[in-house]
Amino acid sequence: SLTTGIVGLPNVGKSTLFNAITQAGAEMANYPFCTIEPNVGIVSVPDRRLDKLTEMYQPKKTIPTTFEFTDIAGLVKGASKGEGLGNQFLANIRQVDAISHVVRCFDDKDITHVSGKVDPIDDIETINLELVLADLEQVNKRYDRVSKLAKQKDKQAITEFSALEKLKAAFEEGKPARHVALTEEEEAAIKPFNFLTQKPVLYVANISEDEVSEPESNAYVQAVEAFAKKDEAEVVVISARIESEIAELEGEEKAAFLQDLGLDTSGLDRLIAKSYALLGLATYFTAGEKEVRAWTFRKGTKAPQAAGIIHSDFERGFIRAEIVSYEDLIEAGSEIAAKEHGKLRLEGKDYVMQDGDIVNFRFNV
Ligand code: GDP
Repeated sequence: SLTTGIVGLPNVGKSTLFNAITQAGAEMANYPFCTIEPNVGIVSVPDRRLDKLTEMYQPKKTIPTTFEFTDIAGLVKGASKGEGLGNQFLANIRQVDAISHVVRCFDDKDITHVSGKVDPIDDIETINLELVLADLEQVNKRYDRVSKLAKQKDKQAITEFSALEKLKAAFEEGKPARHVALTEEEEAAIKPFNFLTQKPVLYVANISEDEVSEPESNAYVQAVEAFAKKDEAEVVVISARIESEIAELEGEEKAAFLQDLGLDTSGLDRLIAKSYALLGLATYFTAGEKEVRAWTFRKGTKAPQAAGIIHSDFERGFIRAEIVSYEDLIEAGSEIAAKEHGKLRLEGKDYVMQDGDIVNFRFNV
């Protein structure tokens, strides 16, 4: 499954946030055969549509879809040169699909800052430079060999070399791979590198618990937002400390606590929603009287592969999908009414799944 890695300098609030994530943890009953690594936190993806469907179907159980965070602690200045456990951490980042970069935006004289003062842009640039240097090293390792092959007119090598040249130039200027325009062929040629700076980034501005009701007045946050805009990255503002308190609450207690703070959703829920969007993920539902359940797919996934997310047999024996959109179902009031109004569609193997589809897969066993 897809995972987003939490990175950041020491003492910015990563562990506090990660604790909130594990506290809020998804119902592990759904993972009977999985051992979950200690640095992985799995959370339910909040979705109001799931509540509506539960009201409509009155199922025995409702199962939200989940989302994974991996805690990648220990990234420090000099990591790309092997400082700290540098290379180990960089290798861990290579495995993730997106990066949540936690940045300290709170003043607190009791908590030391690694570089002596709170300066979120400086922090961001420190980490980003380590990632760029690690990527540059990957390019340099292969550069001569690919260059030689390209000169021998090896077609695949010519494409790869042209991509590596563009990337090397960018990395040497400290720019991330995601800012480099590549052709589709070049993208494909460099995919195996898994460049760190090609992954989508979300900056998580960690503010003081006193500022959650008016985060925009925090000058550090403003600076991070301006930086992110240039960097084509997203920002979520949270207070990790508050999140760890929220994560201990549920239902009405949680709602009341949020209301007191003047918030309508927790920062963690916003973080999940933004990460989901950043990864190009969407949700379809299966619904019946036994169970209402949400499933995650990548945008652009076709019906048989979406069926395969539930079970590989569903994909192998796929016949068709019976689909009603969430809006149509709610408008009709029930599945039967939706059918009567001609809103139930039969879709074949080339159908591209849409966010909010409610699906019944038909398959041969
Ligand atoms: P990490 O090294 O990035 O994992 O940072 P930690 O999560 O251990 O946090 C470092 C210190 O900052 C701890 O003492 C936290 O309690 C504190 N801290 C984290 N988030 C906040 C926050 O939102 N407000 C304040 N005042 N302190 C925080």
